[in-house]
Amino acid sequence: MSENGCTFCKIASGEEELEIGHEEEGMMAFRSIGGETPAHVLVVPRDRASSPEEIGQLSEGVAKRSFEAAQAVAEKMDVAGSGYAFRINNGSDAGQEIFHLHAHVMGGRKMRMT
Ligand SMILES: [Zn+2]
Repeated sequence: MSENGCTFCKIASGEEELEIGHEEEGMMAFRSIGGETPAHVLVVPRDRASSPEEIGQLSEGVAKRSFEAAQAVAEKMDVAGSGYAFRINNGSDAGQEIFHLHAHVMGGRKMRMT
């Protein structure tokens, strides 16, 4: 059971069921609900850190594994060749909605920086 009501902690603990699209050591990835691009997957460390400021709370190498998971899901979604964004929204101005550190892997259409 997750003690904090966090959706991603619930998914990590199995309390909330969701199809995990990719998994590797300490990481999970699944489709974003209401994705902004045709291909939109979230890459989420199983352990909780609310922001990059707290990344020290996570296991060694979590940033590297995030990039590796992003590349793997991009290949699975067939956007690795056409290009994808790997984005972390940190804080409310950036559009962060769930305060459990995660990255967006987005592709399948042309994007701009904003
Ligand atoms: Zn969480």
